[in-house]
Amino acid sequence: MSEENTLGLYIHIPFCKAKCPYCDFYSVVFSEDKKNKYVDAICRNIKAYSLENKNKVDTIYFGGGTPSLLSAKDIDKILSCAEKFFSFSDFPEITMECNPESTSKEKITGYKSAGINRLSIGVQSLCDKQLEYLGRLHDASTARQVILDADSIGMNNISCDIMLATPHQNPEILSNTIRQLAELPVQHISAYLLKIESGTKYFNNKWVSESVPDDDEASDLYLQTVEMLGSYGFKQYEISNFAKSGYESRHNIKYWECKPYLGIGASSHSDYRGKRFYVPSDIDSFIESSMQKTIIEDENPDREEERVFLGMRLSEGIPVEWIQNKNQNKIKSFCDAGFLKCEDDRVAFTPKGFLVSNTILASFCE
Ligand code: SF4
Repeated sequence: MSEENTLGLYIHIPFCKAKCPYCDFYSVVFSEDKKNKYVDAICRNIKAYSLENKNKVDTIYFGGGTPSLLSAKDIDKILSCAEKFFSFSDFPEITMECNPESTSKEKITGYKSAGINRLSIGVQSLCDKQLEYLGRLHDASTARQVILDADSIGMNNISCDIMLATPHQNPEILSNTIRQLAELPVQHISAYLLKIESGTKYFNNKWVSESVPDDDEASDLYLQTVEMLGSYGFKQYEISNFAKSGYESRHNIKYWECKPYLGIGASSHSDYRGKRFYVPSDIDSFIESSMQKTIIEDENPDREEERVFLGMRLSEGIPVEWIQNKNQNKIKSFCDAGFLKCEDDRVAFTPKGFLVSNTILASFCE
């Protein structure tokens, strides 16, 4: 079966123990009763979608929220249902996001038996003070232990999230986190610049605005991250993603290559059967509906524009012919200024270019 006929499955788990002060993702406080009903609703939807889907599932991603608030039994129930109703390709990549404070060696052992073969751990920092500023519920030693535990039971595809430009972060603090992660059994790192979103506790907060690095400092922290991770063998393959060779996230690459994925769960997004749609951020409605309600974002997406905008997030960029006609002079001047690079008939952002990618892409549409 060709790659075109495969599907990514995204399962959103919108429970958290507490709300982090910078987070604007949809999540609700965990309760056992609601979680059980939610898991049942996920399985109901898997069954319903399987009736119309003929494609093989080759990646599954449990995102959140905090999927590690689910037990191994819950994950097993969802994956057994997915395997029963969808057909899986050989060696599907099955990722689960975990937060250190809600993960243990026993739980990871159970997740692995259920079929999880990739963990994405929300480390954020290995500096306790930084974790405290971020309102995280774990400390650095718990995060390190979870990575070691996962590795010790044979989970050998481990990704860690870290955050850049957080309050009082400086190059030394960041470098300590990166160095320690690089010395741990970690194969993939996602590094996200903190964005202060309206509606969060960080928004309009004087302490936050006075303690976060300014734009120039944030850019330097990003470039430092790209350079350090590269020196430790983590190759940048997307604006925020770095991997040892062969450990790039197959699921996330689908998003940037405009491949189909089906999202199940409150607040999930899909690009499925030619349409982009999302499920409202309402857990009760999701639990009560026989099939999730969906809201169409784009009935007939402009695929040409999408594959330029999403493809340019990747370090390998896109074939230059996709944008060259109208933009020949602009491409040359952005290359001369060090924001773009052209190689082998492809055009791509440099790390410095990624920092201003939205502005440059917008200029191609003028
Ligand atoms: S654990 Fe993650 S999803 Fe939950 S509130 Fe914190 S940042 Fe947001």
